[in-house]
Order: sequence, then C-alpha cells, then structure tokens
Amino acid sequence: MGNSFDVAIIGGGINGSAIAYQLSKMGRKVIIIEKDQLACQASSAAAGMLAAQAEIEQDGPLFQLALKSQAMFSSLSSELFEYTGIDIEHVHKGMLKIAETEEMALKVKQQVTFQRKWDPTISWLDAKEIREMETSLSPSVFGGMYLPNDGHVQPEKLTQAFAKAAVNFGAEIRENTEVLSFIYEKGQITGIKTTNGVIHCEQVVVATGAWAAKLMRESGLDLRVYPVKGECFSIRTEKPLINTTIFSDKRCYLVPKRNGEIYIGATMIENTFDKKVTPGGIATIIERATQLVPQIKEAAWERVWSGIRPQTGDGLPYIGEHPRLKGLFVAAGHFRNGILLSPITGKLVADLLAGRQLDEGLLSAFHLERHKVTVS
Ligand SMILES: Cc1cc2nc3c(=O)[nH]c(=O)nc-3n(C[C@H](O)[C@H](O)[C@H](O)COP(=O)(O)OP(=O)(O)OC[C@H]3O[C@@H](n4cnc5c(N)ncnc54)[C@H](O)[C@@H]3O)c2cc1C
Repeated sequence: MGNSFDVAIIGGGINGSAIAYQLSKMGRKVIIIEKDQLACQASSAAAGMLAAQAEIEQDGPLFQLALKSQAMFSSLSSELFEYTGIDIEHVHKGMLKIAETEEMALKVKQQVTFQRKWDPTISWLDAKEIREMETSLSPSVFGGMYLPNDGHVQPEKLTQAFAKAAVNFGAEIRENTEVLSFIYEKGQITGIKTTNGVIHCEQVVVATGAWAAKLMRESGLDLRVYPVKGECFSIRTEKPLINTTIFSDKRCYLVPKRNGEIYIGATMIENTFDKKVTPGGIATIIERATQLVPQIKEAAWERVWSGIRPQTGDGLPYIGEHPRLKGLFVAAGHFRNGILLSPITGKLVADLLAGRQLDEGLLSAFHLERHKVTVS
C-alpha cells in the first residue's frame, strides 16, 4: 500500500466517488479517503430523485448545471453497469408536482409555462386528469405538473458503482481513515495528514459534504456549509400504489423504488449533525403523505432513516480551487440535489484538475469565496 498519489479525494460519498471515477478513467493515480465507510452519510440517505425541474424553480447556474447532469443519467447507467455489473436502478416513470390548494395551483401552472421552454413534454394536469393517472391520489388534490421525463436512481448503488468503476481503473479506497489537515509548501499542496499517516499528492479534493467547513477552516477559508437533517421512512404495498414520483413543493415526496419500497420524506432540521430519527419528525411526514395518498395508512411499514444534507445558504454547491493554495479543490455543499448533480460534478472537477478548458463561466457561480468571509 503506497502513500503517493496524483490526487487524494477526501470523502467517500457520491461526489467523491464520481470525481474518483472520472479522474481514474483519465489515467490519474487516485485515492479516496473516507472517515467511516463509503456512502455512509447523505449519499445513502437520499431518495435519489433527479428532480431538476421540480426542485429548482428559476433559471440560473444551478438549474443549467442540474439539467446537464440530469441528461447524463441514461448513458451513465449503462456505462457503470458495463464497468461494474451494478444496476443503479434508474427508473424513468416521471414525476407529478402536486398542487394541494388553488393558490399552489396558480404557482405550479406558472412553473409549467417556465419549464416547457426546456421540455415541451411537461404539462399541467387538472384534478380529474391527475387522478386518472394516479388513482390513489387524494380527491382533495387540485392538479399538478406532469414531468414525463423525470426519474430517480438508487443513490447508494450509484455511489458504490462510481467507486467500484474507479477501483477498476486503478483507484484505491481507504476507509476508516479521517483526514486531519493539509500539508503545503510555498502555497502548493503536497499532501494530507490522516489518522493513519501522511499521504503525498499533487492535488486534493475536499468532497466531505456537510463536514466541508470544518476541514476547510484548516486552510484559512471559511466556507458557509451547514447541516440540514432529513428524516424519511418507507412502506411496501401488495400492489403498486403509485407509478410516478409524487412531489409536493418541498413539504413531502413519495418515490416508488424498483424493489417495491416507496420512500417517503423528508424533514428539514437545520444545524444538527445528530442523525437520530424522532417520532415527531416521522409523524409530520406521515401526516403530509397521507394528505396526498391516504392509502399509505394501510401499507406495510418497512424502515426509517435519516441523513445530513450539506446546505450553503444560497443553495449552490462550492465547486472550485482554493484561491491561495494551489492544488486544493472543493466539491461540496450540494444540499438537496447531490445525487442529481453527481455526474456533472465528477466530470467538471476532473476536467478542472486536469487543466482542461471548461465552458466559459460554467463554474463561476459556485466559486469558494462567493460569501467573502476569510479567516486567518
Ligand atoms: C433525506 C435526504 C434526501 C435526499 N434526497 C435527494 C434526492 O432525492 N435527490 C438528490 O439529488 N439529492 C438528495 N439529497 C441530497 C444528497 O443526498 C446530498 O446532496 C449528497 O449525498 C451529498 O453527497 P456528498 O458526497 O457531497 O456528501 P456525503 O454523502 O455526506 O459524503 C461525505 C463523506 O465525507 C466523509 N468525511 C467527512 N469528513 C471527513 C474527513 N475529515 N476525512 C475523511 N472523510 C470525511 C463522510 O464520512 C462522508 O462519507 C437528499 C439528502 C437527504 C439527507
């Protein structure tokens, strides 16, 4: 086990694994260093929705990045299956963004008009049409936006597939190893200190999700990344209850997975790394979900879980190089969209490290000093 690499990636979540995959495919010598186990945090807690149009309501750098990433999933799914034999369970059965009140209906209809500029297959369904499509929706539903091209994946499998493909291209993964600090000489990264010794490398990528601010403070940069806990539960029914993903304006979603489970989430609890799942949190989502699909009350209970989303305040991830330390890069803070954004994050960060020309301005909105607070 050598200790010299071209690139050390800190964090074995979906973003670290996606970056490792792209870099090792380019022939770079890469190591992923993970404090615990691969995909043990947000990247296994996510519902796996690829909800660019339902989550992001206005045009801008994040929306454009999300659309580009969403478009990568079909080919990525076959590519990763070919390299690893792992099926990332890409389901392509569409999404319904529900309007539960007349007021919400007005807002969702405006969104339909806006979204049709990018995807003319998106349409508004009234109360009758929407219940013809999903017969178990509550009669109280007003209507909703139908996104036939939307889909979802199994996020833990996608993370494992990225990581396994990276290993097949020569990457190494070191679990149960925490990165403590950076080593640099004359403003250039030369390595990192970990709980299992020093690793020498030319470039470092911090992909530590909600934990990015703590590590980056070591480098004199104050990133505004903070945790937002999300609690979820899942159920099973004898016959499929829904076919499409049901999404209600950030209050609640139901995602019918390929294995027959329906994932239902999620709470939004700010500023805690404590992953305990509370009866109060789950009760809130049950109440919201039964307002949308009353029959879930009769379903078989499956499990509960939680995860920590990396929020940045403006909802944009940090993707870029440290302004004063050459060779130190960050890809963190993907908040509610880290699964959706993982293919493009992997590709852009790998291109950035390789010094390849990127689209003019593509990453400028995500730069590391946009909040302009530095510490010494
Ligand atoms: C309930 C819930 C539902 C979600 N649903 C969706 C969804 O439907 N669609 C979507 O696109 N996104 C969703 N998300 C968001 C998505 O899960 C995250 O944005 C994404 O997983 C972040 O991935 P990451 O690799 O950046 O971070 P993480 O998965 O959190 O990985 C970071 C890793 O870094 C490791 N680490 C931290 N510090 C160190 C250190 N010092 N040394 C070594 N390792 C370290 C951690 O152990 C961890 O494994 C959801 C999130 C939650 C919680």
